Amino acid sequence: MVALANASPMGFRKNMPETDAVLRAMTNDGAFRVVAARTTDTAREIVAAQKLSGSIASDLADLVTAAVLYRETMAPSLRVQCIVRFEEEAGQLIADSHPDGWTRGLLQSGSGDAPPDIRKTRATLQMMRTLPNADLHRGVVEVPESGNLSEAFMRYMQLSEQIVSMISLGSALEGNRPACGGFVVQLLPEASEAEAAMETMTKRLEDFVEIKQRLQDADGSPAVLVEQIFEDMPFTWLQNSDIRFGCQCSQLRVMTTLSVLDRSDIQELVEDGEPLSMSCDYCGATYTVEIAQLQGLLSTS
Ligand SMILES: [Zn+2]
Repeated sequence: MVALANASPMGFRKNMPETDAVLRAMTNDGAFRVVAARTTDTAREIVAAQKLSGSIASDLADLVTAAVLYRETMAPSLRVQCIVRFEEEAGQLIADSHPDGWTRGLLQSGSGDAPPDIRKTRATLQMMRTLPNADLHRGVVEVPESGNLSEAFMRYMQLSEQIVSMISLGSALEGNRPACGGFVVQLLPEASEAEAAMETMTKRLEDFVEIKQRLQDADGSPAVLVEQIFEDMPFTWLQNSDIRFGCQCSQLRVMTTLSVLDRSDIQELVEDGEPLSMSCDYCGATYTVEIAQLQGLLSTS
């Protein structure tokens, strides 16, 4: 990791197409840190795997960006999960972000025929990270009535983490200029004249509340976003990491899931006489469990 003041964080990639990544930078006066992400390809693969379109697809894309930013901001080495839970059993949106960079998302449909609409149905946002001792750190906030996930994420940071931050998420999934991403700008505890610095930044970020067009203009580039946010402010690039669509499902996990079923349930599956076919809700991968493998579970349990 090399930090170069105001130099491109990925100079050698300058002429290459943008890929999904997270960048961090800090102003040289120590007042602000920004974490910015491009999630275009990851989000598009996730909504394609979920077969979603329209506003629910954008909402899932925003939640995926939120999960990536949340992990990179609060716990880069931990696994995080963000859930938008709709009221009245209308279902939930889930996004997972892993320290290795793999990211996945899911719509769990509820009782309604149409996908839930965050602008019409009340919802909560739950942010969760798995601590090294396997405990969960978890916080829940209400999603504002407008359905704005950026605001919900900011509210979570303020109420659950006591961190003042400015956050914007944006996604354009359809059309010929897809771009998804977002940023978290944090006031750092060591900031001098914090109030004045905050006022300046708040004013500047008024132009960054809606970032969809901005992301599209720059092919989602997080470097361009950071340069715009810190324009005329000396800053230093800190770190970058890659993001991609990925899933942790495997035949072994399928077998582990089956192994906790009741013996009688497994016996029933064996008696059905058909190999068991299961598919992963996140990525759509399918797994087949042969009768002999089911019998194997009976003999070991
Ligand atoms: Zn999977």
